[in-house]
Amino acid sequence: MNFDCIVVGAGPAGISAAITLAKAGLSVVVLERGAYPGAKNVQGAVLYTHQLAEVLPDFWKDPQAALERPITEQRTVIATEDSWVSVGYKSEKYLKEPHNCYTIIRVRFDQWFSKKAEEAGAEIYTGVTVRDVARRDGKICGVKTGDGDELLAPCVIACDGVNSILAQKAGLIDELKASEVALGAKEILSLPAGVIEDRFNLEKGEGAATEMFGALTQGMLGYVFLYTNKDTLSLGVGCKLADYQKKGLRPSEHLEAIKQHPFVRRLIAGSKTLEYSSHLIPEGGMRSMPPLYTDGFLIAGDAAQMVNPAFREGSNMAMTAGKLAAETVIEAKKAGDFSAAKLSAYEDKLKESYLWPDLEEVQDVEAWVEARSGFLDFYPKLACDLAHLRFTVDGQPKKGHLGKAFSMIQKRGAVDLAKDAWMMLKLGKRLAV
Ligand SMILES: Cc1cc2nc3c(=O)[nH]c(=O)nc-3n(C[C@H](O)[C@H](O)[C@H](O)COP(=O)(O)OP(=O)(O)OC[C@H]3O[C@@H](n4cnc5c(N)ncnc54)[C@H](O)[C@@H]3O)c2cc1C
Repeated sequence: MNFDCIVVGAGPAGISAAITLAKAGLSVVVLERGAYPGAKNVQGAVLYTHQLAEVLPDFWKDPQAALERPITEQRTVIATEDSWVSVGYKSEKYLKEPHNCYTIIRVRFDQWFSKKAEEAGAEIYTGVTVRDVARRDGKICGVKTGDGDELLAPCVIACDGVNSILAQKAGLIDELKASEVALGAKEILSLPAGVIEDRFNLEKGEGAATEMFGALTQGMLGYVFLYTNKDTLSLGVGCKLADYQKKGLRPSEHLEAIKQHPFVRRLIAGSKTLEYSSHLIPEGGMRSMPPLYTDGFLIAGDAAQMVNPAFREGSNMAMTAGKLAAETVIEAKKAGDFSAAKLSAYEDKLKESYLWPDLEEVQDVEAWVEARSGFLDFYPKLACDLAHLRFTVDGQPKKGHLGKAFSMIQKRGAVDLAKDAWMMLKLGKRLAV
């Protein structure tokens, strides 16, 4: 055996696993297909820091930490073609270190995070694509690379992201279905730091995260995001792949249309596109989560569908899963037992963490929203029409406004309104806190 553990993929899951293993004194190698960590990775990107601090305590004190702006304001925008209603939350509490979340640029963040794994003692090899698991007597005992090399270890952690080749080769997942993934497209737009701060009403160094719903997604399930980095903006959209296929719309065309929306247009005016990228987002949730372990093998992060889109959590969940997978391997090494029975402790650890209960809580949310088409078009329009009525002075007595508001609402029909109200109660319970 060359190593105690092989980790495939140098994303948040893989690097968290590698740091945890290396800190415990295990020999660990990370194999990454990109020319460098982060070369192929796409994220919005907002990173919640609680889980990062569990892997790297005091990370924010590192002057090299590849963090953009701490988010002090979260805004939700509900838009029609020409109008929008926005609600936001801004708090000085978010100025306290460690900040609740930062914007990051993955190509920088992943390189810094990987360096931390190397400092802890992990070996990282880039430009290495893993093609298959290696087996002896039918049991997984390492990996095979694209060059035909075999690397052996008593345990492999697959952190190779959405559409995991490794988990497929291990026989734990089938190919992904279009209904289980969203397609995300994103541009990084350059804008001077001062202009960003003026436009988003931020003090020096502060950041804002804006998510947009309604007409901008053209009736598809998903949302548009606009995040502030140091001297760039990240503008992107993620919608169900099956919806893009049905509509025959390319994400790049969608993003171009979004840039013309009057809410977005004003905020990005004068910026230059530095980069375009697109990537799948696993959104099958609990219902698509594969078996998480077999003899000598564990899966973590996007490879195991560990994303909570309703709360914009993916990278932090990947970190938790990578860390818990590594802790399981450390226990297995102590016991000299890498059997599936021993590695099943990984699932127990996930169940005891926030990750499993949170994924269970939101597992029906997408299906519920999809079942009530009004959430994607009727209600965004209603919200804007009601706001228009409230804020417009038209020379008519205000008394009539209430009646007009009721007739706007009644257009939905009594039965649908009742069904929607029931759904909103259910959604509120899952999503409000
Ligand atoms: C447009 C978009 C916006 C998002 N926004 C957010 C957000 O704001 N906040 C958030 O928390 N999450 C967000 N996510 C989700 C987040 O990016 C993922 O949940 C997170 O990156 C998962 O980490 P991971 O380590 O599991 O996988 P990844 O980050 O995908 O890392 C997998 C790694 O494995 C490597 N790899 C793959 N196959 C092989 C192979 N065969 N051999 C060797 N290496 C391989 C890849 O190159 C990659 O480096 C977003 C995703 C997208 C696409």
